[in-house]
Amino acid sequence: MTDPGTDTGVRVRFCPSPTGSPHVGLARTALFNWAFARHHGGTFVFRIEDTDAARDSEDSYRTLLEVMQWLGFDWDEGPEVGGPHAPYRQSDRFPVYADVADRLLRAGRAYHCYCTQDELEERSSQARAEGRPPGYDGHCRDLTDDQRAAYESAGRRPVVRFRMPDHAITFDDLVRGEITFQPDHVPDYVLVRSNGHPLYTLVNPVDDALMEITHVLRGEDLLSSTPRQIGLYDALAEVGVGTGQIPRFGHLPYVMGQGNRKLSKRDPESNLLGYRERGFLPEGLLNYLALLGWAIAEDRDIFSMEEMVAAFTIGRVNPNPARFDLRKAEAINATHLRALPVEELASRMVPYLQQAGVLGATVTDQQHARLLAAAPLVQERMVTLGESVDMLGFLFTDGSAFVRDESAASTVLATEDGRTVVRAAHEALSALARWETAAIEEALRGALVERLGLKPRNAFSAVRVAVTGRRISPPLFESLELLGKERALARLAEAAG
Ligand code: GLU
Ligand code: ZN
Repeated sequence: MTDPGTDTGVRVRFCPSPTGSPHVGLARTALFNWAFARHHGGTFVFRIEDTDAARDSEDSYRTLLEVMQWLGFDWDEGPEVGGPHAPYRQSDRFPVYADVADRLLRAGRAYHCYCTQDELEERSSQARAEGRPPGYDGHCRDLTDDQRAAYESAGRRPVVRFRMPDHAITFDDLVRGEITFQPDHVPDYVLVRSNGHPLYTLVNPVDDALMEITHVLRGEDLLSSTPRQIGLYDALAEVGVGTGQIPRFGHLPYVMGQGNRKLSKRDPESNLLGYRERGFLPEGLLNYLALLGWAIAEDRDIFSMEEMVAAFTIGRVNPNPARFDLRKAEAINATHLRALPVEELASRMVPYLQQAGVLGATVTDQQHARLLAAAPLVQERMVTLGESVDMLGFLFTDGSAFVRDESAASTVLATEDGRTVVRAAHEALSALARWETAAIEEALRGALVERLGLKPRNAFSAVRVAVTGRRISPPLFESLELLGKERALARLAEAAG
């Protein structure tokens, strides 16, 4: 591999189909392509493969763009930014595909196939019964004009089928090494439906050729389309589509979920939007996704995207299946969260606090100051930004907006013991002259642990629930200081009943 930034001819693409909600597999593929492009100073092309009108949606397209931006992937060519090979949405490129299909037909590299579904199925089950490969048998490869005319006059509409070469196809996979497909295993395949609609099998390699893609990095599930695409590339070169350069292919390992199954789009931990909703940091999630098939070094899990870009080589991609581990993703995210400067942490929490209604659309100076003071208290305790809502809500809500967690209140505060503790805390704190963490702690220890003889855990948990409304909060004495004397006393008085 060349040094970073020296192989500017590198052109890679990320080309999802806008169906459903974006999943972690997509983000992993985008990440590896993006890091590869950036490492080489090359070009990252973002293309939308939306030729399947029945499954694609505008909503899903918008969400894809949003998620790409959230994750911080900048693309050099693609939707919104344009580029020399525009348009980058395949639904805007149908005339291109019709023209290519036409050229392939005229050159004899593709042909019209009139077989019906029933005929295909019947012949393939017969082949199976006789121990022959069940794929398309080449029935229409060399029809005579008369045969064609007969099908046409019977009202049959043909598909366009690609004539695969009769020799084995070998390529050197960047992740897996040399792979050979025997011709028997790669039968002629359909490029264009009988209604004229082009398929992935055509549009994906055509655009890779036209967009001068040099490296195709994608999931292992697409490995079986590679020999077909290599066969097609050769024909495209012959009919003058693209530069004639076949890209290098690298197939990224499967991602396994629970129970040794492939992680499916339907698994809840697949849903990318869910990570944003919970408040994963993009850099935390990407750091974890990078580990699904790649490693920066042995025994090193935590790195920034800059470090990944500097170090990224395909040679370090592991062909073995990777295991998705949500706990590990959370631990990595928590590490990134702890490393944020306090200002940054505070500003990243704001949208989550706003979303939950804890903060309003405009944050006052006083709220901002309080948030800055509180941020270091929660930084060590949070795994995701969304947890700030539960942990810090008590600082920003007053009156009827302050609501205690019901189960905590009913177990800890509703008892006579609980009320006694809260009353004693109120009395001790009312007398305090200086409202500071150390003085608050001293007063509460004196009143609850020494005088009432309670275990600190029990004593403080009642106070915690009374003033924060939660069993889990930032450290209690600091929280009391931040809350302010007046508000703290009011909550204790109200909890004491
Ligand atoms: N649109 C295809 C997909 O999302 C792209 C596959 C490829 O990278 O070739 O599966
Ligand atoms: Zn046929």
